Amino acid sequence: MARDLSTELIHHPYRPPAGFDAPQVAVHKASTVIFSDVAAMRSRDWRHKTGYTYGLHGTPTTFTLEARIAALEGAAHCALVPSGLAAIALVNQALLGQGDELLLPANVYGPSRELARHELARWGISHRFYDPMDAAALPAMLGPKTKLIWLEAPGSVTMEFPDLPELARIARARGVTTALDNTWGAGLAFNGFDLGADVVMQALTKFPSGGGDVLMGSVCTRDDALHERIHLTHMRTGQGVAANDAELVLRSLSTIALRYAAQDSTGRALAQWLQARPEVVRVLHPALAGSPGHEHWQAHCTAAAGLFSVLFDARFTVAQVDAFVDGLNLFKIGFSWAGPVSLVVPYDMALLRPGQAWQGHLVRFSTGFEAVADLQADLAQALALAFSS
Ligand SMILES: *Cc1c(COP(=O)(O)O)cnc(C)c1O
Repeated sequence: MARDLSTELIHHPYRPPAGFDAPQVAVHKASTVIFSDVAAMRSRDWRHKTGYTYGLHGTPTTFTLEARIAALEGAAHCALVPSGLAAIALVNQALLGQGDELLLPANVYGPSRELARHELARWGISHRFYDPMDAAALPAMLGPKTKLIWLEAPGSVTMEFPDLPELARIARARGVTTALDNTWGAGLAFNGFDLGADVVMQALTKFPSGGGDVLMGSVCTRDDALHERIHLTHMRTGQGVAANDAELVLRSLSTIALRYAAQDSTGRALAQWLQARPEVVRVLHPALAGSPGHEHWQAHCTAAAGLFSVLFDARFTVAQVDAFVDGLNLFKIGFSWAGPVSLVVPYDMALLRPGQAWQGHLVRFSTGFEAVADLQADLAQALALAFSS
């Protein structure tokens, strides 16, 4: 008896010929993965990526992206999650438990601080802040409960570049795991593992995506045992990424070094130009001499992200600084970076870096792909608009 059309459209016998090959990675979308027989199902091994078990645990598309991100970071393993913040949360969930203490840099990425203050606190995990620019003070902060130290280089708003190898060395000597937020360096400016980090996380939302159109995060490790802990928590908490999103990142990844260099060059040109302006008391950009931790950037980095902050003179009012930001046309007001559009955000110093007594109003810029001359003209007209009264 002929099968009904509805069945036939699902169980159609056609199989495309094998052997299709192209440089672009195919998008494999599935929740269910079909096993050839019961024995294959029973012997499934999702841990070692030797086969497929369920869409959430990996497809050819996500396995390929994991391998390429691991290559970017110089890692052995990579786990993908739906955002950079989810990557931070995964590391905390995998490595911390009730009664443990976490150390965060005082200039930490804001949402990471909020996660510690709320969920981690509720789960009995305490946290303290250390001064990332004072490595000598770190040993005294390490106690028997300290299990994890987050590192950022540089802090993504104050742009302070810490002595990463020294912070990592102190932690390792005391048996404390370090996790680096490598979103700024992107695996290009320096290698996080070579500088001593045990876990390297990145918001793929930024440079690896480059399009401002996808959110994703990665957690990379070199150590097998550490990876296994992260991988188990990753699976048990139902983390995974969509194949279409993975494809967007794979598509952009091939140009990451070109984009990083282009935004770096634009960022340095504008930072230098702003440094010479009378309205500006300080430009915070790790590649500029006099910027906090410049010597550490110089010792370990070959490049910089197109990201910098400017301190406008304290004699100006907040309203004037807001008028400057509002007066910009090409720089759009918005969070994130590394996409095509240049962005700007004013920050409240007191909130983002307690204990740092810099004077002035902080505004952070990130460079997109617009021409330098046009961005500079935009800055000049907004400066004139807001501050020349
Ligand atoms: C953007 C960012 C994150 C979080 O990434 P999302 O994908 O936006 O959640 C984490 N750390 C740093 C330094 C970032 O800039």
